[in-house]
Amino acid sequence: MSVEQKRRALITGASSGIGKATALAFAKAGIDIALVSRSVDKLTAVATAAEHVGATVKLYTVDLACLDQVQSKMQAIASDFGDIDILVNNAGMGYTGNLKDTSLQEWQKVLDLNITSVFQCTMGILPAMRARGMGTVINISSVAGKQAFSGWGAYCVSKAGLIAFSQALAEEERSHGIRVTTICPGAVNTEFWDTETVNADFDRSNMLTPEIVAQSILHAALLPQQAAIDELTIMPSAGVL
Ligand code: NDP
Repeated sequence: MSVEQKRRALITGASSGIGKATALAFAKAGIDIALVSRSVDKLTAVATAAEHVGATVKLYTVDLACLDQVQSKMQAIASDFGDIDILVNNAGMGYTGNLKDTSLQEWQKVLDLNITSVFQCTMGILPAMRARGMGTVINISSVAGKQAFSGWGAYCVSKAGLIAFSQALAEEERSHGIRVTTICPGAVNTEFWDTETVNADFDRSNMLTPEIVAQSILHAALLPQQAAIDELTIMPSAGVL
C-alpha cells in the first residue's frame, strides 16, 4: 500500500483489552494508529509491539473523563498525527451495583466516560471527516446495551445510550460519506473484570478473547466504502455467562 493510501486510525482505550488487541490487529493490517489512554507505560508497550509489524504509531495520554478537554485534545491529536480515517471509541468502564445503591456521583462517572466522552471524542474528529467527505466511526457498546442485567443498571444505561448515539450519528452523517458502526460484544476476557468498579464472578474461560472482538472491529473498518455494518453483536458461543 502506498503512503498516500495508508489509513490512519485513532483508538481510545488502546492500553489494554479490546483496544490493545484492536491496535495490534490494525497495525498488522497496515493501518497507522494513534493510541489514546491515561497510562503512558502501557501505551508504550502496545506502541512498541505495533511498530514491530511496521505501523506508524503515536501515543497520546488523555484522561477522557476530563470532559471539557476531550474535544480539543482529539483535534490536537488529528493535527499532529494526520487526518483520522477510522475512529474507534473503545475506552469505557464497567460498573456493577443495583440502581438503588448507585450514587449520583457513580452514575455520572459511568455516563460521563461511557457516553459523553464518546460524544466529545467524535465531535473532535467529525468536522475533518465531514470536510473530507469520508470516515468510519466504530463505537464499542455491549450486549448490556441491548439487554438489561440485574446489578448492571448504570452500565446498561450507558451502553444503550451509546447505541442510540451511534444510530443518530449514522443517520445524520450517512449523506456526508461517514459511516458509523456499533459493536456489541458479550463478555470478553480483559482487565475490565479486575477493575475496582466491577464485582462479578464469571467463568472467564468461556469468554470471548479481545483478539476475536478486534477482528470484528477490523472487518468493519476495512469494508469497502459503499458498505457499512450498522451494528454487530458478538457473543461467546456459550451465550450470556
Ligand atoms: P479494559 O479495562 O481492558 O480496557 C479499558 C480501556 O479504557 C483501557 O485502555 C483504559 O486505559 C481505558 N480507559 C479507562 N478509563 C479511561 C479514561 N478516563 N481516559 C482514557 N482512557 C480510559 O476493558 P475492555 O477492553 O474490556 O473494555 C473496552 C470497551 O469494551 C469498554 O467500553 C467496555 O465497556 C467494552 N466492553 C467490554 C466487555 C468485556 O466483557 N470486557 C464486553 C462488552 C463491551 P487506561 O487505564 O490506560 O486509561
